Amino acid sequence: METRGEFLQGVCMKYLVRCCAVFAWMIFCCTPSFAAPATQRHQTENVIFVMTDGLRWQEVFRGADASLLNKENGGVDDVPALQKAYWRDTEEARRAALMPFLWSVVAKQGQVYGNQDKGSEAHVTNGLNFSYPGYSETLCGFADPRVKSNDKVPNPNVTVLEWLSQRQHYRGKVAAFAAWDLFPFILNAARAGFTIDAGYDALSNGPVTPRLELLNRLKADGPRIWDEEPIDALPFYTALEYLKVKKPRILYLMLGETDDWAHDRNYAQYLHAAHRADAYVETLWNTVQSMRQYQHRTTLIFSSDHGRGDGLRDWKDHGEKIPSSKYIWMAFLGPDTPVRGERSRIPAVEQNQIAATLAAFLGEDYVSDVPKAGKPISDALPQ
Ligand SMILES: [Zn+2]
Repeated sequence: METRGEFLQGVCMKYLVRCCAVFAWMIFCCTPSFAAPATQRHQTENVIFVMTDGLRWQEVFRGADASLLNKENGGVDDVPALQKAYWRDTEEARRAALMPFLWSVVAKQGQVYGNQDKGSEAHVTNGLNFSYPGYSETLCGFADPRVKSNDKVPNPNVTVLEWLSQRQHYRGKVAAFAAWDLFPFILNAARAGFTIDAGYDALSNGPVTPRLELLNRLKADGPRIWDEEPIDALPFYTALEYLKVKKPRILYLMLGETDDWAHDRNYAQYLHAAHRADAYVETLWNTVQSMRQYQHRTTLIFSSDHGRGDGLRDWKDHGEKIPSSKYIWMAFLGPDTPVRGERSRIPAVEQNQIAATLAAFLGEDYVSDVPKAGKPISDALPQ
């Protein structure tokens, strides 16, 4: 039998338990749907994926190439200035001068694949070694023989970006920004349904901020060095502003200058473009680490669509006729990637593995839906 005091205590306890249950239910309902389905142990809730077109593994891992730091082979006008910027006595110092963020942060806290000098090889499998097939292989997870030109043909395949955007947790939270005006076709914008801004097109369906209005104006007004793509600063700053305002969970950024300047046989601008790409990645990384949604919950992927040839002539070009241009590089940094730094003496990794690896960071199983996609790179994922 209860005393009156015990009775009141019991009532209070019941009330307290009920309040706690209601409170827990409210927290559950109000929590934004950041948490992806827990198909595996992972902390990544957002992905930033940057690709810079046709940047060779040779410069990424060895830094500036002495044989191209001249007028004759590299079209360099001011050799002393370029040497001052990027020439150092050792390979480690040269690559750190060229891509300081990659070597001081990503390689120290994440993983970098593709240094053939150390027994790590990364390559495309499409056999064509040029851009549309490379981006398609990367983003769809397989090489498709139908994707065999850089023509403006809508991709018949679904990219991992579109695949994610169709899932509940990512709906309206995927966005892609690209220098190259082919991206609405590579990503099949007409079908994909997520934000895609490419080439000289204004970001028309996104947020309106003074900065985005100015960037849209600069795309329309500026002189055009290349018909198909503006300088990288325009897609980069557009992506950065979109990131701050719209906070997408998946942000894709494609930069094009590293390919353009190489085709133009301008080694100085090619190196400057690589240096800027590294700085852009650093800015994105530092920005997300200062934002609550992203801090410690974001994985960065950094790669290229194809390599380029070796030697004094072939460095400018790539494609089927330059077999060595199949070699690429890739880097991963984030809370789920074990710290293994620059990889050495490991089995080769392939471009077709990136899509499933990206999905796996988020706890999503891409390969079960797309069995022909390359398997995730398990070394880069939680062990
Ligand atoms: Zn090219």
